[in-house]
Amino acid sequence: VASCSPKTHEPMFRETLEACGINKYLFEMANIRNQNSWVHAKSPELATRKAKDLIRMAVARAGTLKPLRERVISVVQRALVIGGGVAGMNAALSLARQGFDVALIEKEPELGGYSRNLHHTIEGGDIPAYVERLIREVRGRKDPGFHGRPRRGFRRIQGKFRNPDRRNRTERSRPSAHGVIIVATGAKEYRPEEYLYGKDERVMTQVELAHLLEEKGAISPLGTVVMIQCVGSRNEEYPECSRICCQNAVKNALRIKETQS
Ligand SMILES: Cc1cc2nc3c(=O)[nH]c(=O)nc-3n(C[C@H](O)[C@H](O)[C@H](O)COP(=O)(O)OP(=O)(O)OC[C@H]3O[C@@H](n4cnc5c(N)ncnc54)[C@H](O)[C@@H]3O)c2cc1C
Ligand code: SF4
Repeated sequence: VASCSPKTHEPMFRETLEACGINKYLFEMANIRNQNSWVHAKSPELATRKAKDLIRMAVARAGTLKPLRERVISVVQRALVIGGGVAGMNAALSLARQGFDVALIEKEPELGGYSRNLHHTIEGGDIPAYVERLIREVRGRKDPGFHGRPRRGFRRIQGKFRNPDRRNRTERSRPSAHGVIIVATGAKEYRPEEYLYGKDERVMTQVELAHLLEEKGAISPLGTVVMIQCVGSRNEEYPECSRICCQNAVKNALRIKETQS
C-alpha cells in the first residue's frame, strides 16, 4: 500500500489481511505521507521522485516478507525502580497502586532526590511539603510486594526480563528479580567554572539564590541582581537547553521583587 499514514492505517490494513485469512505480516507500506509529502511540501517534483523510490523499495521488500507468528511469553511481574526522587517515588507508587510488586532503590540514605534542595515551584507550591507527603506514602505502604526503603544501590544487573536471577549466590547482597526496570536517576546541578563562580561570593547558582532568599528574605538587601542565563548549556560542548533555568530565574526574580521592594 502506498497511501495514508502507517501510524493510523497500518493496523487497519493488517486487520483486513487477517480477516481474509492472510498472515498480517505479509504486508508492506510505503510511507509517502509522513516521510515525504508532508516534509517536502515545498518541493513537489522532488517529493514525487522520492515517493517513486519509496514505493520501489516497499515493493522489493514485500517480495521477501515471510509469515510471522506471535508468541506470548511470561515476564516477572515485578518492577525495579532505580532512584528515589519525585519521579522514582511516583512511578513506584503508581505501579504499587495497580497491584504490582515493586522494589525502589535509592543510593542515598534519604528519599526525595534533588527536590530536597528546593523550596517553591514557580506557582508558589510548597515543595518540601509535597516531597514529605510522597515519602510518607512510600514508607507507609503495607503491600507485601512493595519495598520502598532506600537500599544503597546495586552491584549489577544480570539476565533478561524472563530469567533475571542468575547471580552468584555467594555474594552478600540480596537478589531482586524483576521484569521491568524504571531508571529515574535524575540530574545534577551544573557547577560553573565560568563567571567567577567559586571565586567571588556574590556569584551563585539560582538554587543557591533561592536558599538565600528563603533564609534571609527581605533582611538581605541585594541591590542590583544580574542573572546570566544558559551558563554551561547551549554551547559547543553541550548544545541542549537545560529547560529549567529560565523558569528558576523568573521564579527568583519574582521573589526578589516581592521581598526586596
Ligand atoms: C538545578 C535545578 C533546579 C531546579 N529547580 C526547580 C524549582 O525551582 N522548582 C521545581 O519545581 N523544580 C525544580 N527542579 C526540577 C526538580 O528538581 C526535578 O523535576 C525533580 O527533582 C526531578 O526528580 P527526579 O526524581 O527525576 O530526579 P532526582 O530528584 O534527581 O532524583 C534522582 C534520585 O536517584 C538517585 N540515584 C541516582 N543514581 C542512582 C543509582 N545508581 N542507584 C540508586 N539511586 C540513584 C539519586 O540519589 C536521587 O535521589 C530543578 C532541577 C534542577 C536540576
Ligand atoms: S532554560 Fe533558559 S537559561 Fe536554561 S539553557 Fe534553556 S534557554 Fe538557557
